[in-house]
This record gives sequence, C-alpha cells and structure tokens, in this order.
Amino acid sequence: MQGLHIFEPETQTVINLESFIPKNHLLRQIDRILKPELIRKLTTSCYAAGRGRPSIDPVVYFRMVLVGYLYGINSDRRLCEEVHFNLAYRWFCRLSLEDEVPDHSSFSRIRDRYGEEVYEQVFFEIVRLCQQHGLFGETCSVMTDATLIAADASLNSLIHNDIETADKESESQQQDRGLRDGSSARKISNKTHSSRTDPDATLAQKRGTPRQLKYKVHQSIDANSRVILDTHVTTGARHDNQPYLEQLKRIETRFHLTVIEATADRGYGSAAIIRSLQEQGKRTFIPLWSGRVGNSKYLKNGLVYEQDQDRFRCPEGKYLNPNPAHYENQKRYVSSSSDCKVCPQASTCPARTRGSSPQRFVQRSLDQDLFEEVQTRMRDPMFRQKMSERMWKSEGLFAEAKQNHGLSRARYRGRAKVQIQAYMTGIAQNLKRLIVAFCDWLLICLSPRKRTTTYPPYILRTRTFSTRPVNFLDRVCFTICSERSNNAYVHCFGWHISDNELFDRTPQSESLNEERTRNCESRPAASFMRQARVSTR
Ligand code: SF4
Repeated sequence: MQGLHIFEPETQTVINLESFIPKNHLLRQIDRILKPELIRKLTTSCYAAGRGRPSIDPVVYFRMVLVGYLYGINSDRRLCEEVHFNLAYRWFCRLSLEDEVPDHSSFSRIRDRYGEEVYEQVFFEIVRLCQQHGLFGETCSVMTDATLIAADASLNSLIHNDIETADKESESQQQDRGLRDGSSARKISNKTHSSRTDPDATLAQKRGTPRQLKYKVHQSIDANSRVILDTHVTTGARHDNQPYLEQLKRIETRFHLTVIEATADRGYGSAAIIRSLQEQGKRTFIPLWSGRVGNSKYLKNGLVYEQDQDRFRCPEGKYLNPNPAHYENQKRYVSSSSDCKVCPQASTCPARTRGSSPQRFVQRSLDQDLFEEVQTRMRDPMFRQKMSERMWKSEGLFAEAKQNHGLSRARYRGRAKVQIQAYMTGIAQNLKRLIVAFCDWLLICLSPRKRTTTYPPYILRTRTFSTRPVNFLDRVCFTICSERSNNAYVHCFGWHISDNELFDRTPQSESLNEERTRNCESRPAASFMRQARVSTR
C-alpha cells in the first residue's frame, strides 16, 4: 500500500539535542578530547577584563571554525548557515536550539583580533596532545614536503612596481581589451610586479600548470603517526628547502624531542642541508639535487681522483695537483705544462685547456665526496622504501588537506591569514589522527579476543593510551582486512581513510597485507560492529 506522510510544520516538539548525536559521530569523539579551558586561556589576553560588551564565546567561535575545516566548508557565511541547520554542528558548537548562531561578519574581526599567534598556540597544543597520548615520542622521524596553493588574487591584479610603467601598462591593457590575438600580453615577473589585492602572494608555477599567484605550505610530519608537527606558509616563490632547517629546529625546541631521521624529496637535497643534518647526527633520506651538490662527469673520462693524495691522475699517468684558490664551490686541479707539452694523448685529453697554454685543468666540486656518498646510499633498498613511504604519507596528507579541508586555495588574503588557514587545517587533520588512535585503543582494550587471538604481542601489552602509531596502523589494516571493506571503518569512526593511507605499497608489505587478509577472513562482520559500538560509548 502506498504510504502517505502528513507534514505538520507547526507541530512543536521538545527534543534532547544530546540524543540526536550518534555515539560514534566524529564530532562527539573530538568533543571528548577538546578541553574548553585551553581556548579560554589562550584568548584571555585578547579581551579587556571587565569592560565592554561580552564577546562571542571564544570556545563557540573556535568550535565553529573547526567544524568548517573538518567538513571543508570554505565560506564563513555558509558555515553559519550550516551550524544553524545542522543539529550535530549545533551540539558541537555548544549552541542549543534557542541560541542564536554568531553572525559571519564577526568572524573576520575575531580572526584579526586573535592574530596568527593564538592559532599557532592552539595548533601546537593539539600536537602536544598527540605527543601526550603517545602518537610520537621523544625521538621521531620527520618527513617534510611543500605544496603550492592558489592565492585569492588574479593575475590581473599585478601592477608594475614603477608607477610610470604601471600607468603605461594599464593604458595599453585598456586599449587592447577585447583583442584576441594576445598582442597585449605583458611580461610579468616577481621582480617587477606585485599584486594589488594580495601583495604577499607571488608568481609561482608547477610543471604542467599555468603560472599563478601562489603561496607555499611547508609541512613536517612524524613519519610513524603522520601527525603534522609543523606547518609554515611562505610566499609561492620561496624554495622548498629555505625554511627547512629552521622548521626542524623549531620542532625539536617546541616539543622537546630529537629528530633522528629526516626524509624529504629531491628539492631538499642540497649539500648544505645534507651536511648540516649529518653534522647534527641525523640520518638523512634525501635524494640528491645533483646540480647543487656536485657532479661526476669527469669520472667517466679517464681522469682518476686519488683521494689520499687529493690529486687527479690523467690517462698519460701524470698528476693534476690542487690549486689553492676555489672557484664557486669548485676546487681546481692543474697539470704541469711541461708534461702536457710533449703528451701524445693531448688531442684526446679529457682535461680542459685555457687560452694558448698547454697546461690542463679539471674542476671538482667541494661537495663531491658527499655527492658520491649519498649516491651510494640512494641505491640502498631502505632508502627506496623511505622514498616510497614519503609519497603516500607526506603527499597523501596534502591531498587530504586539499580535497577535504579546503587547502587547495587560500581563503584569505595576506600571508598571516593563510598561515591561520594552514594551522586550522593541520589541527583538523591531527585531531582525526588522534581520534583514530584513541578509538583504536578503546577497541583493543575492550576486545574480548585480546587474550586469545593472534594479535601481535605489542597489542596484548596495551593497557594505557600510549601505543605507537605504527602499531596502530598495523591494527587498522588488520581491522579493515577483517571486514574486507573500508565501509566498516567509515561506519565506525565517522570518516573515510582511504586504502592508500593505510597500506604500505612496498613488496614486503604487500605480502604482509595478504597474510593479514587470510588470517582475518573467518572473523564475522557483525562481531566487529558490535565491538565497535561498545568501544565508542
Ligand atoms: S695533456 Fe697533460 S693532462 Fe692531458 S693526458 Fe697529456 S699529460 Fe695528462
């Protein structure tokens, strides 16, 4: 029989907001961890004590902003609408059904009032919370990467730094407006032009994409737990490796830890960086950027370097000895004119000549030894594994931030505000990592199988919330394998973590994953779901 539902919009109902939020809802799980005192303490200095009208509660403001970042709501206006209509958002933001949602126009004023420092403090407090809960310890392996994000400014906002030239350009642009042949195209560069609407943004380009005004987000993560330890925004034209050493130092100082391993891509592989990290006793997994570190062209041409004597032997068996002067990070080795004058191999000699002198010379980079050492290490299977891990761990976090948390484009103008956006995105992502670890710990603790199952020994020892996340990831893989579907996980913990994030793609891990799947096939889905429900209460 066809059903008929009568809608009565005027009916008044008394509801309990608390009862509307599922026990395993993401916001409820975050609510268990967030302490309102933290926000109040950090924002106290931004308000005059006992004077003026009471402000919007900073806790309500921060919770609303966090909802926006967690669910990728990019506009303040839309966020206020969403909070108004969504019961879960209302509950999380501590707003009852009668409470009025703050106006979106207040948000930009509050952002300006707090400034970058308050958000930075909140970000570091959340990272510290992850540390306290054992997601990373006193020593850690750090992976670093950088990504470009589009600034909130168009190329048309670029004006020449010289006022006269800027006027001429503006006139010619107005005259040529409408021409289709592109004859009016300007020559623009960061040296000569800056944006009128966002002076902090600079022109930058990634291969295969158009040149745009951009910012760059430099991010360092703990390699085991994927907790974001530091996020720093610079203008788009700044090179990846420029703030790198500073960033590692900041992490060590802030969290009182020692970085024992540094992993990054080729963009960080300069001699200065690798040498500095090695001097600090850190293991480095950074491929070479050969143009910066050195080159080995001369080795292929019959010239042999004798390290003990610091000299070259030429094909004729004569020696090229070092010249005390250095030329742009290169050491010059010169032959004897008398040897070369009578040399039968002079026509095919790989060493270079200068002017009409018969004397030959060859240049060797001062970093050549380091270049060769790293080149050897790059062939090591462990090095390759680290590079493969870096791709899904570090770049995966950027992909998550851009797809789900709105980091693909700057929401605001000015570097400081884009930095706030990066901090809030980092907070949202770190909270997700923390919640997963927390739920997983509960799941393991409450599991009736923990004494009898084939779980690895470290799980049996888990009595406190201090499990290492690498083990945690193993267990999540185990759990997902047991269900043979990610949906179970989504259903239990409230958000999606893709397969790529959890499964290591190295050959060894592939076989491990297969083994896990085989071991878990007998576990019924219903039992897992029952456990999950218990654990999230
Ligand atoms: S020309 Fe001089 S440097 Fe070159 S092979 Fe002959 S002796 Fe050696």
